Amino acid sequence: MPADRRSHIMTAPQHTGPVLAGCPVDCLEIAIPRAAFNALARGEGAPFGPPSTVGDVITLYQQKRLGEIRGLGPRLIAQIEAGLARTEPAR
Ligand SMILES: [Zn+2]
Repeated sequence: MPADRRSHIMTAPQHTGPVLAGCPVDCLEIAIPRAAFNALARGEGAPFGPPSTVGDVITLYQQKRLGEIRGLGPRLIAQIEAGLARTEPAR
């Protein structure tokens, strides 16, 4: 197979293949630094509650609502953004 567009996409340890929007948020754990992932997964203080899927995180990011989660400042949100950029649906 030639160097294809999937070569830099993160794959999930929980299953074969790229991380997809329907994946549980746990599939982002390998792509996001611990502190950012933990705050994201807890979803504390946010009116929408903890995101349950990768798609939920993408939606919150696109709506610029990740900052409503306690503990998520611009630096950690940038780390989450970088992780999302490596998932299939965000490309
Ligand atoms: Zn997954």
